[in-house]
Amino acid sequence: MPFVLKPWLNRPYLDLSAAFSLKRLPSSIIISGDLRLNTANLAVKTAMLYLCDHPEGNEPCGKCKSCQMLMDEGLSHPDFLAVLSSTKDAFDKGADLSHRVLDLYENAEDSSGTSLRIDSLRHFQEWASQSTMGSHGKVAVISNAHLMPEAAANAILKTFEEPPQDTLIIMLTKSLDALLPTILSRAFKVSVSAPDVDVATQELLDMQVDVTYAHQALALSGYAPSLAVTLIKSGKILKVLEIVDALANTLSKKVDPIFFVEKILENDKDKKSSVFTQEERVQILSEFVLELLKYKAGITQDKLPLLLNVDAKALVYIQAENLFASLQRLKFIKGGNNLSPIRAMQAVMRDFVNSLMS
Ligand SMILES: [Zn+2]
Repeated sequence: MPFVLKPWLNRPYLDLSAAFSLKRLPSSIIISGDLRLNTANLAVKTAMLYLCDHPEGNEPCGKCKSCQMLMDEGLSHPDFLAVLSSTKDAFDKGADLSHRVLDLYENAEDSSGTSLRIDSLRHFQEWASQSTMGSHGKVAVISNAHLMPEAAANAILKTFEEPPQDTLIIMLTKSLDALLPTILSRAFKVSVSAPDVDVATQELLDMQVDVTYAHQALALSGYAPSLAVTLIKSGKILKVLEIVDALANTLSKKVDPIFFVEKILENDKDKKSSVFTQEERVQILSEFVLELLKYKAGITQDKLPLLLNVDAKALVYIQAENLFASLQRLKFIKGGNNLSPIRAMQAVMRDFVNSLMS
C-alpha cells in the first residue's frame, strides 16, 4: 500500500525526494506552512524514504519493516523521533518526545498552550548522538519549531548545523520568519501553501462531509481542510453564520450591538464553556472585516464566503480606515485569555462594533 499524500503536498514532496535521490539533500530540512495543512505527513513520508530498505525511485517501498512501522501510526520506530511542543504537564509526563507518528500528527494539529522546551531539545540532542538501531540512520522531526524560544534554538544550533552522520533533522514551522537565520541558512527549505478552494472542497467531499458551508468553513480555516471538517462536523459553522448575520444586521441598521454580543459570547448547551474560544472569535471577526474591505475594493460577493448571504451594500458606509483600525484592535484582543470576566468581554465586543459604526 503506498503512502498517499494530500494533493497540495505532492509538489513539495517531489522537491524533497528529488534532492534525496540525487544525494543533494542536506541533513537538515525545514518545511514551512500552516501545520494544519498536514505538513507532518510530508515529514513522515520523507522520513520513510530516508529510512526505507528498498526505495523505488522517489518512493519508499511501503513494505519493509521500517516503512511499516511508520505507516502504522500507533507503532514505535526506534530510529524515528518526534520532538513535540508541550505544556509543562505533558513535559513532566515525558510526552514531549515520541517514536510514534500518531503523536506527531496530534501535536501538529493542535499546539495550543504549548511551547518547544529547551530540555526537550537537549534530550533530542542526546538521542541524535546515540548509534542507530537500523541500517539507514535516523530521522528526527521537530514539530512546531516556531514555538522554539531563542535560547532553545541556540542550544541545538550545532546539532542542527552539523548533525551526526546519517541523521536527518526535519523542522516543521508555521513560518520561516520565526526561525533564526543561522538555522535557516544550512537547511533545505520547502514551503507548503493552502490548496485552492476547488481542491479543498474535493478533499471535504472525499471525507464525506456536507459541503453546503464548505466555502465558509474553509475561509475560516485558512483553507486547511482538516480544520474545516471540524467546523462543519461540530455544527459550529452554523453558529458562525448566526454571528455574521447578527453583526451585519447591527451594522446595517446601526442598532445597539447587544444581540450580536450575546451571540458571539454564547455558551455551550451545558453552560460550562462558551461555544467559541477567543481565538476563534477573533478569526471570525477578522475574516468578516477582511471580506468587507475586499467588497469595498470591488470584489464580488460570490467570492466572499462570509458576506455571501448578508446585505453587503448596506455595509459600504463603513470607512476603510475604521476597518483597518479594527483589524489592529482584533490582534490586540487575541492576546487576551478566555478567563477574562464576561463583562470585560462584552465591553470589548461592543467597542469593536461601535468603532466600525463611528
Ligand atoms: Zn520501505
